[in-house]
Amino acid sequence: MAVQIDQSLGELEWIPQPRMTQLRRLGLETVRDLLTHYPRRHEDRREFARFPREETEQQICLCGEVIKTRLLRFGRGKKIFEATLQETDAHALSQPLVLRWFNLHYVQKMILGGQRLVVFGKPRLRGKRLCMEHPEFEVIEDDAEISIHFRRITPIYPATEGLSQRILRALIFRLLDECRDDELETALPGELKTDLSSEALREIHFPSSEETLAHARECLVLAEFFTMQMLLASRRARARRRVGRAQHGSGELLQRFLKALPFALTNAQTRVIEELRRDLDSTFPMNRLLQGDVGSGKTVVAIAAMLLCVESGAQTAFMAPTQILAEQHYAVLQRWLEPLGISVSLRTGARKEDALPLFTLSRGDRAMSGEHNLAGPSSPGDTSIQVRQTSGLKPAGQIFVGTHALLYEPEGLGVPGLVVIDEQHKFGVAQRGHLTTREPAPHVLVMTATPIPRTLTMSLYGDLDVSTIDEMPAHRGKIITAARGGDKLPDVLAFLRRELAAGRQAYIVYPLIDESEKLEAKAASAEFDKWRERLSPFACELLHGRVPPPEKQAVMERFRRGLTNVLVSTTVIEVGVDVPNATVILIENAERFGLAQLHQLRGRIGRGEHKSYCILLSSDSSPETAAKLEVLEKTSNGFEVAEADWAIRGPGDLLGTAQSGLPALKLGDLRRDAPLMQRARAAASRIFRDDPELTKAENQRFRHLIVEDGEKSFSHVS
Ligand code: ADP
Ligand code: MG
Repeated sequence: MAVQIDQSLGELEWIPQPRMTQLRRLGLETVRDLLTHYPRRHEDRREFARFPREETEQQICLCGEVIKTRLLRFGRGKKIFEATLQETDAHALSQPLVLRWFNLHYVQKMILGGQRLVVFGKPRLRGKRLCMEHPEFEVIEDDAEISIHFRRITPIYPATEGLSQRILRALIFRLLDECRDDELETALPGELKTDLSSEALREIHFPSSEETLAHARECLVLAEFFTMQMLLASRRARARRRVGRAQHGSGELLQRFLKALPFALTNAQTRVIEELRRDLDSTFPMNRLLQGDVGSGKTVVAIAAMLLCVESGAQTAFMAPTQILAEQHYAVLQRWLEPLGISVSLRTGARKEDALPLFTLSRGDRAMSGEHNLAGPSSPGDTSIQVRQTSGLKPAGQIFVGTHALLYEPEGLGVPGLVVIDEQHKFGVAQRGHLTTREPAPHVLVMTATPIPRTLTMSLYGDLDVSTIDEMPAHRGKIITAARGGDKLPDVLAFLRRELAAGRQAYIVYPLIDESEKLEAKAASAEFDKWRERLSPFACELLHGRVPPPEKQAVMERFRRGLTNVLVSTTVIEVGVDVPNATVILIENAERFGLAQLHQLRGRIGRGEHKSYCILLSSDSSPETAAKLEVLEKTSNGFEVAEADWAIRGPGDLLGTAQSGLPALKLGDLRRDAPLMQRARAAASRIFRDDPELTKAENQRFRHLIVEDGEKSFSHVS
């Protein structure tokens, strides 16, 4: 009987039990698992190169016969094993190649005179001899199997414990041989199919040419991406089946808010508010990611969305990751919204407060409010009563600002119509789930200032709609970024004092060296004393994670009001803090921070009209640090920083892909294969647009792609 792709390997009697145990240890249980255990690289063994006579920079693959072996001992128990290899059909000018292994006992047991070997490595000149040190090698044992392992473009698999290349190759070769073509067919929709779709799995392992290998890889990467996008599209379709409530305020409250703002919105802000309004107006719960660089003005946009909800009578929640940020939002909302008659409440672990504005209950007048709403201040001649709420009266809270305390002690907050999550990358998965799984489903807006490269947004956030603020408010002072060695501190100090003398304020940030509470406080205060002395007589204050909450808030408030000139702090100011008069940020030991974090920190300045300066101090002269800091010197655009960060860090885990709840990629590379991801996404979206429940006959073959682990959806935004 032909082998089936989803069959368990254990059912194939030609795989012996001990081998099965080894395969299981590698997580290879089914035929599919083994067939998608892809080669790490291939070796062209169609025709072996002649033996070289000089060193090469490239690793090369050679074949020859072992004509001599010897074991050299030196020092205390140290050994070198040498095997001399002569090329097949040697001629007068042929030079043998010496293979050498240091202290590897097992090699000497495997290689015997007279054997034929295939080796892969870099030939190096050692004295007069050409040597390969620690080459990969394979002994040609069995002429019957020669067609699997040699005379072809041969797959080389990721190193695996206990299973040799030879064994894996033979297993996979046999499986491919026993599988029918239709079993190997990759599940791809018409628009992604190529001629190779049914041959791709065979070709990725045992390619017939370099060209088909490239095609096979592309086809399988597409299939992998397509699976990912189908999962995302199905999550999205499911989210859309949840029923929410449309929040269609007339927009009048919003208009009044915008008119009262001391600035005009940027075009990008206006566009995004329109996108949000459209979402809120629908009974499908909104699921939207709002990204915009630090300082691009996301808060105003969030407030606009909240106002639309408040106007239609719903409560809204605004979650921030830190107490400092929650307090700041609370202050801003009070200042801007109280005059509009809206009650704003604060819920943090440290403080709960309900700010109850002077508001008007207007009888008859429903012009600007929904059914349940409280209208704004009365117009003259209106028959309305003014009520000053007292704490005795249970307020109908409208906007709740808070930290995650909002999740656990939401006193007064019912099922919100809209949840806004600021700086969402700072939140845990569970925390977000807590608020958003309620019924009826609230609209959800998550905001992030950690710009995500486009391809990643497409992959990791593929089930969210994305709005982007890609424009900075006008009249922003320029930010100049400079990296300086530790020896430049005196110059930096002189510069800092000039700025302070001109009335500007500054942040001084230093990395936390020790996480322990005692040491942190100690390091912080030692640091602080140094800076106070250096900057005397300017007023400095200290802020770090261990400062008790009420004090934290007071310190922040004094800085905000300009009573303090310099804030010496740890990264507690990393997200969101907004003090436009602060124009200098000095970051000590900058090498210890990641690029994204440095960009966030830099976002604390350049928020007003003054020219701002970010000084990155570092005594580390390594090329890695230089490259990192140079990125920041060159650009202040968060998207460019994110791309560079990705390039520097490689294809690895940029945002915790592991948390995405999506299967790990075996072949595709999110960065290099970005265009393929785009095609896969378009195809998956098309399928779900035409057939959201996958009920059509032609879509049945895709159903198995969208089965999720225990139906845990939505775990992917952290
Ligand atoms: P972020 O996107 O980093 O959260 P904020 O919302 O904190 O940025 O906005 C940064 C600063 O810019 C705030 O002081 C805010 O009041 C101000 N701001 C927002 N939009 C505009 C605008 N269109 N014009 C001028 N200033 C603006
Ligand atoms: Mg913000």
